Amino acid sequence: MVEVKSDIEIARAAKKKPIQEIGARLDILSEHLLPYGHDKAKVSAEFISETRKNKDGKLILVTAINPTPAGEGKTTTTVGLGDGLNRIGKKAAICIREASLGPCFGVKGGAAGGGYAQVVPMEDMNLHFTGDFHAITSAHNLLSALIDNHIYWGNAQEIDIRRVAWRRVMDMNDRALREIVCSLGGVANGFPREAGFDITVASEVMAILCLATDLKDLEKRLGDIIIGYRRDKSPVFARDIKADGAMTVLLKDALQPNLVQTLENNPAFVHGGPFANIAHGCNSVMATSTALKIADYVVTEAGFGADLGAEKFFDIKCRKAGLKPAAAVIVATVRALKMNGGVKKEDLGTEDVASVKAGCVNLGRHIENVKQFGVPAIVAINHFHSDTDAEIEAVKAYVAEQGEEAVLCRHWAEGSSGIEELAHKVVALAESGVSQFAPLYPDDMPLFDKIDTVVKRIYRGSEAIADKSVRNQLKQWEEQGYGHLPVCMAKTQYSFSTDPNLRGAPTGHVVPIREVRLSAGAGFVVAICGEIMTMPGLPRVPSSEHIFLNENGLIEGLS
Ligand code: ADP
Ligand code: MG
Repeated sequence: MVEVKSDIEIARAAKKKPIQEIGARLDILSEHLLPYGHDKAKVSAEFISETRKNKDGKLILVTAINPTPAGEGKTTTTVGLGDGLNRIGKKAAICIREASLGPCFGVKGGAAGGGYAQVVPMEDMNLHFTGDFHAITSAHNLLSALIDNHIYWGNAQEIDIRRVAWRRVMDMNDRALREIVCSLGGVANGFPREAGFDITVASEVMAILCLATDLKDLEKRLGDIIIGYRRDKSPVFARDIKADGAMTVLLKDALQPNLVQTLENNPAFVHGGPFANIAHGCNSVMATSTALKIADYVVTEAGFGADLGAEKFFDIKCRKAGLKPAAAVIVATVRALKMNGGVKKEDLGTEDVASVKAGCVNLGRHIENVKQFGVPAIVAINHFHSDTDAEIEAVKAYVAEQGEEAVLCRHWAEGSSGIEELAHKVVALAESGVSQFAPLYPDDMPLFDKIDTVVKRIYRGSEAIADKSVRNQLKQWEEQGYGHLPVCMAKTQYSFSTDPNLRGAPTGHVVPIREVRLSAGAGFVVAICGEIMTMPGLPRVPSSEHIFLNENGLIEGLS
């Protein structure tokens, strides 16, 4: 067995270059970089507006089959492909999400890639980084404080305190705060009411920051947030209590994308990190659209499998920001395909070509789905040590039968040299001009029909069903002028159905819509089809028990 270094050991050994040199690769002059230390910088607003006149480069989406505990490696492949494109002489940049601090202390799993395909400094990225999440937490909680303060001083907007829709957030897994009663302790502390905390990445402010196109747009969207309802059920907006201006001030710097580098010193934008269930799960529009103006190829990732991640990337982010992806890479692993074929996690080490073949239906479904958006797809087989030649050949043969190609990639073990073939093929695909991107449904389709379209065409269910109350709520929002919004599906990431244990490619299932929520500032209607956790808890043995500073002051145990 070869010795395998941990992600953090590899990251620590990286020969980082000063961030100005990385910026120069994309022609960002150092005066337009706002450094946070030596290896991180924000890109100035002036630079971003100057580049708006440039032509766009080619946008490449990295997505995946349905996640399994076996792991797929979307971020690892996004970073690896960015390095691979640079290796073959292309001017390429990477755009990924920022990690949430709280979950790093729960279960292992950073957000900076893995092996020899990582973004550095990984410790910073997984902790405080450039403070964006702290700014989002502050802006969110400023609004929370202003709501209770507004009620305290007479409640001129007549907010029904039983219908305050805006909760509080913090970047920590803390189940104790999920449901609380606030304003206890007497007259001086306000009116007691039920409230609660979500994790910062679940905040609508996070989704807004990630979809905003500039400061003006950010401010408008913040003003559009619905904070609660009056007794006549009419909505009260953040702008009604004059919160939008001050919130924008708190978010001014957070809106600027962060530039860092890969282990191979290639540019990577790491910016924003909305939840992939109640929000759209992609990095910021600011980062992606800026990168497209200054790089020829931009590789970006969408959360979860393609049924949720790619669908929302296309139908929410690309639709809203006018982005036109040129190609998609669907990441699959032999291990995850085996699990889709019915193999248990304990048995993944044994060769099992038949189960790989059986699990390929999941991959096949995602290939078909991505093509429904008019975007050409190629499959990346993210190579693991335990994969056998016969298993890899089985995947390649299956994909060839679907009329597409699967390429074996060894970026995790080898860095960019292990992913050259995919890089060449992605360039050919992106340059072929075959992409005819179009969202799945038009803006003017009724909201429930949009949900039903996703259920039928992407999940291959028989239909979406919902109680009258849910349908009436959607109708009411249509009457109030929200009918043009896209829908943001919140469903288990493990299956095309709402049953997380149903792997492979199920068909004909009914998808019940339990609840709908309006994120008026972010600009989407959330359709909830299952249990959605917006404040995670910590496990019995949290990974924080193994995180410490060693004798040299270096962080141990982080991923
Ligand atoms: P995703 O973005 O799909 O959630 P990541 O790219 O973050 O997945 O990878 C999850 C974990 O799996 C990381 O710790 C990474 O090091 C590991 N990993 C990814 N690819 C491989 C591989 N080919 N071999 C071994 N481990 C891998
Ligand atoms: Mg990821």
